[in-house]
Amino acid sequence: MRITKLPTLLFLFGTLSSAASVVAAEPTDISKLRPLRERVLTQAEQQALTPDKVLEMLHAGNQRFLDGTLTLRDHSAQVRKAAVGQFPKAIILSCVDSRVPVEDVFDRGIGDIFVTRNAGNFVNVDVLGGMEFACKVAGAKLILVMGHEDCGAVKGAIDNVKLGNLTAMLKNIRPSVRQVEKVEGEGTSSDEQFVQKVIARNVLDAIANIRKQSPVLVDLEKQGTLKIVGAVYNMDSGAVEFLED
Ligand SMILES: [Zn+2]
Repeated sequence: MRITKLPTLLFLFGTLSSAASVVAAEPTDISKLRPLRERVLTQAEQQALTPDKVLEMLHAGNQRFLDGTLTLRDHSAQVRKAAVGQFPKAIILSCVDSRVPVEDVFDRGIGDIFVTRNAGNFVNVDVLGGMEFACKVAGAKLILVMGHEDCGAVKGAIDNVKLGNLTAMLKNIRPSVRQVEKVEGEGTSSDEQFVQKVIARNVLDAIANIRKQSPVLVDLEKQGTLKIVGAVYNMDSGAVEFLED
């Protein structure tokens, strides 16, 4: 079942005590709330999906996130036990940023999506291996590379930050910075528009690198059983804005 208002949901779980007097005016009968006890996606259900259908489901999930109508899920032992295999719909490459809760952003539960994360959502051999497992072995239909506004890793790459292992890690994002600099001239992390352009470029470059470095995924794409798309998460609104190259 769906909860119509997120503040009500928060109140029920005792995390919005300051709103107690407001919500108390319209008492909710908690005994009538029945969290969704989902079945985990089966292989047959996964195989019946198309990449476009999966994309549509992600759009719809993000709309619920925006509307405050997230599905209230019951991740009880019974549900976890049912997840004997996994046949998720998609794999999402996201930044590690704590303000981007990937499953919530798309209103997904156990067994629904693979999520792979690193600071700056770039592609390397480890990420590609996970994607090839997700799509070729486990049958996922969509790869989504999702950057986000105000990305600290992208800002660090723009400013050429040197710190421990960050120095080497940020090198993965530097080619995108240089691409934007070719058009815009040099920029800094305090230039919001410049940062935004690098964030988008970095997503598109990650997609290009997937295609360049993974013949396995390119084959699936050619067969029409896989789609690779990019997006940027809007920190203010929670909206996922899809990119066109
Ligand atoms: Zn980030």
